[in-house]
Amino acid sequence: MYFSVKNLKKSFQKNKLVLKNLSFSMNKGDILSFVGESGSGKSTFLNCISGLENIDSGTIILNEKILNGKGKTVRAQDRRIGHVFQDNPLFPHLTLKKNILFNLKKIDKKKLDEVITVSGLKNLLTRFPHELSGGEKQRACIARAILREPDLLLLDEPFSNLDKHIKKDIVEYVEIVLQKKKITTILVTHDIKNILNISDKILIFKEGVLQQYDSPENMYCKPSNCYCGKLLGDLNELIINNKKFFIRPEHIKIVDKSNFSLIVEKSIYQGKDFKIKANHQNHEFYFYSTVNYKSSEKLYFKFDNSDLIYFDKDCENYFT
Ligand code: ADP
Ligand code: MG
Repeated sequence: MYFSVKNLKKSFQKNKLVLKNLSFSMNKGDILSFVGESGSGKSTFLNCISGLENIDSGTIILNEKILNGKGKTVRAQDRRIGHVFQDNPLFPHLTLKKNILFNLKKIDKKKLDEVITVSGLKNLLTRFPHELSGGEKQRACIARAILREPDLLLLDEPFSNLDKHIKKDIVEYVEIVLQKKKITTILVTHDIKNILNISDKILIFKEGVLQQYDSPENMYCKPSNCYCGKLLGDLNELIINNKKFFIRPEHIKIVDKSNFSLIVEKSIYQGKDFKIKANHQNHEFYFYSTVNYKSSEKLYFKFDNSDLIYFDKDCENYFT
């Protein structure tokens, strides 16, 4: 594997692991989204990979080079890893161009031109950071990292300080740049909805433990536990023969008569259809419809058994 992490453990205080025993690997050129709640250890994980933090134990191998393991540790500056932080730090007294080129020993004009063009920064090169928007600064930081052609690019919540409409542009920019330059990337985020379509793989992390590592499609259709399932979208609960199942709202079909009923609570208009909030067996229940149902209306529904999701008892909520 191009990049692999094995049994990575990291703590700041004795007996309190932030990364409990993390193992996974990825292929060259893949974009991996690493998803976890605030405080779950995402930045710590990136800092361990780039060498800004020491690890307690474990192995990190990148492009056949051992970064941590076998009693050795490669220094951060020797790792060939690009690390972009959340708050896009640029030197305030340097122009955008000088910021991008900072400390670069050899400048390849052709590469510079390509990175600047794909990043949409061509007309901004002589501006200072205070003359740039948040999105432009973030693009500059990513361009600065990409120009160095790292073996691995780490993006720590690059979208979280941006306005909603800029966020969409930046997500598209990141997708284009990473695919064009085929840069192996780990993108850390607490908000999975933004990144579903740019990720080859998603890794869900909770309280220092890997919950699921999978393609976006599998993650959505075959979540490994309830926590992962709910992160990717609404999950309706259904009891069938005393067994608890779950089903996605889009798999619910309203019919004239069946053994399953619900009571409509609210229709939420969302452009092409309504998202209906309902109640089924005292649980919140969602489905989509082109009909604007009235609240308190009783409806019957059906579904395909193949769309049911089942979790065994061990993984009812999440892995600890
Ligand atoms: P995330 O990026 O997912 O929000 P962090 O990796 O920043 O989470 O933090 C994970 C946990 O580690 C938090 O409880 C945080 O307080 C703790 N932590 C992070 N950095 C340090 C540090 N340098 N010293 C002590 N505790 C830290
Ligand atoms: Mg963080």
